[in-house]
Amino acid sequence: MATAKRDYYEVLGVARNANSEELKTAYRKLAMKYHPDRNDGDKAAEERFKEIGEAYSVLSDPDKRQRYDAFGHAAGGMPPDFGSFSFDSAFDLFDMFFGGGAGRRRGRSGPQRGADLRMNIEITFEEVVFGGKRTIEVPRAGQCEECHGSGARAGTEAKQCPTCQGAGQVRRTMQSIFGQVTTAAACPQCRGEGRVVEDPCPHCRGQGRVEVRHTVEVTIPPGVDEDVTLRLSGEGEVGPRGGAVGDLYVGFRVRPHPQLVRHGQDIVFELPISIPQAVLGDHITVPTVNGEHVVDVPAGVQPGKQIKLHGMGVPHVRSGRRGDQICIVRVVVPAHLSHQERELYEQLGGREGKPAEVKKGFFDSLRDALRG
Ligand SMILES: [Zn+2]
Ligand SMILES: [Zn+2]
Repeated sequence: MATAKRDYYEVLGVARNANSEELKTAYRKLAMKYHPDRNDGDKAAEERFKEIGEAYSVLSDPDKRQRYDAFGHAAGGMPPDFGSFSFDSAFDLFDMFFGGGAGRRRGRSGPQRGADLRMNIEITFEEVVFGGKRTIEVPRAGQCEECHGSGARAGTEAKQCPTCQGAGQVRRTMQSIFGQVTTAAACPQCRGEGRVVEDPCPHCRGQGRVEVRHTVEVTIPPGVDEDVTLRLSGEGEVGPRGGAVGDLYVGFRVRPHPQLVRHGQDIVFELPISIPQAVLGDHITVPTVNGEHVVDVPAGVQPGKQIKLHGMGVPHVRSGRRGDQICIVRVVVPAHLSHQERELYEQLGGREGKPAEVKKGFFDSLRDALRG
C-alpha cells in the first residue's frame, strides 16, 4: 500500500526547495509534538512520530533526497536502497537530535547506563611539553556500598518485574491502514530495568548509588593541547541499580608561560638585545622549557633574525618528535641616554640625512622575519 504514503515534504510541512535548516526546524517541532512520551498511548501520534522520523531521515540525506525527488515513493515501495525505517529508528533519530540518554531508548532493557562526565584541568606549559600525572577528585554518583548497587535493602533482592516478566519492555501490536505494526516501549513499572525493588535500601533510597568523591589519576600526554580530550572509560557515573558506568572526558586548559609561546610544535621566544650586543655579538642566556640555555648571538645580527634551538620545542602528541625553540631577535633602542652615552653615539656619526647603507642580505632576513 505504498501509494497511501504521504509526501515527505507534506509530512514535514515544508516547501520542496526547503534548505537543511528549514528541514531541521520543522522536524524538531513536529518530533517534539508527537513524541510518544507526550502522547501517552495515542496511536495516531505514534504513527505520526514514525512518519516524521522517516521523512526527515530521507530528506536530510542529500543522496536520498535527490532520489526521492526523482522517483517519489515509487510504485511498489521506495527503491530498496532507501533502507527500512522502523519505529525504533525514529527514537534513535530523536535521541541524536535532542541528546536523549540511553535510558530513553526503546528496544533496550536493563538498568540505565550512568552519565558521562566532563572535567577540565589546568596544566602548566612545562606539563604540555613533558607530560605528567595528575590526581583529580571527581564528584560523581558511585555505587552504594550498603546494597552493592542493587538498590534493595541488605538481605533482600530486587524481584523480576511482573509487568514485563523481566524483559524491560512491553510490545504492542496494532492494526493500521499500512498493516500490522509492532512497537516496543520501556516497561512503565520498572522503567526498562526488568527488575523492581520492593524493599529499598535506606542508604541510597533504592537508587543503588550515592554521591561520592571519586579519585582518578590522569596521565597528561606530552604535546597535549587545549583541543585534545581524553576519554577515561568507566570513570564516569555509575548507573542506577547496577547500570553500566559512564565515561569521564578530561579536557585541558594551559596556563600561559610568561615568556614562551607555543606555535604548533615550536616554541617562540622573543629575544631582546641591546645595540652593543647586536653590533658586537654576545653569548646570551635564555629560558627554555629544559632550563636556561646559552645562545650564541653573532656580531652584526639584524632585528628579526631567528635563532633556532633544535629539538627544544613541543613534542608531537603522537610521534613524540619535538619541534624547535625559535628565538627572534629584537633590538632594544634606548629611549633615554646618559650624557656620556649621548657623546659616544655622537662620536659614531652616521647621521648624514640619508638612509643607512644596507648590507647585501638585509632584505633576505627581513623577508624571513615576515614569513616567520
Ligand atoms: Zn543502597
Ligand atoms: Zn517491567
